[in-house]
Amino acid sequence: MAQFKTLLEVFKLLDKSNCMKCGEKTCMVFAASVFSGKKHLCECPQVPEEISAVYAAQPKKKEAIYQDRVNQLAELEAKVMNVDLKETATRIGAVYDGKKLILDVMGKKVEIESSGKVVTEIHCTPWVLGPIFSYLLHCKGTPVGGKWVPLRELPSGKNWYRLFGQTCEKPMKRVADTYSDLFADLVKIFNGQPVEGHYQSDVALVLHPLPLVPILICYWQPDEGLESDLNLYFDASAEDNLGIEAIYSLGTGITRMFEKLALRHGGVIA
Ligand code: SF4
Repeated sequence: MAQFKTLLEVFKLLDKSNCMKCGEKTCMVFAASVFSGKKHLCECPQVPEEISAVYAAQPKKKEAIYQDRVNQLAELEAKVMNVDLKETATRIGAVYDGKKLILDVMGKKVEIESSGKVVTEIHCTPWVLGPIFSYLLHCKGTPVGGKWVPLRELPSGKNWYRLFGQTCEKPMKRVADTYSDLFADLVKIFNGQPVEGHYQSDVALVLHPLPLVPILICYWQPDEGLESDLNLYFDASAEDNLGIEAIYSLGTGITRMFEKLALRHGGVIA
């Protein structure tokens, strides 16, 4: 029996109608559940039996999605070894010092050598390193236009925004709810730039995980029986410079960094 190597392999087999008959809100969320072993492909009534019968249940381990990232990272790393770093640096808003490309990732230096070797000032997990490589390879160099949109309004965001909400925005909200110094630390440690007047939020901060892919974080504190809320916004040009899967991975990777930051500083993540 076959097993899925990537989340997208599962997604490609679905009819993408988001009909919710499997109990999940979108086909992408269902694909993630199948890939991580929580559900089996046969739980989607739209997939013909002869197809679901070909696939064994994925082992129920959290590492399945992590391993997907590691595999994708190895493929991207091999491609990065063939890029012209000087030309790439000009296109993507980085610097080339004659030997290596130097990228500013939230105020920290990430250096990439022509061998694909990466030297960073921060610990980059595959969730973040994958998008960095992807940015090097695919960024078109479209300037940031200044129009902020939620992920679902990006050209390919419709299939990803619910999964993004579950793995990025909700966990990041939990960090903000329980770790009161989060936003002050983002300014201090990750060069976050506070901005005002965005959607009446109590806190609004712009981060630059990649020079041409800024992220606006808006947080609303709990108020008179209303729960807190947190949303991420992207420049409308974001998908020109980073594919939607890499945008999803970047948001998830940053969230995990914030969770670790909160835990290191005594925060409690519910
Ligand atoms: S995975 Fe299947 S059942 Fe679930 S929403 Fe998509 S098409 Fe509908």
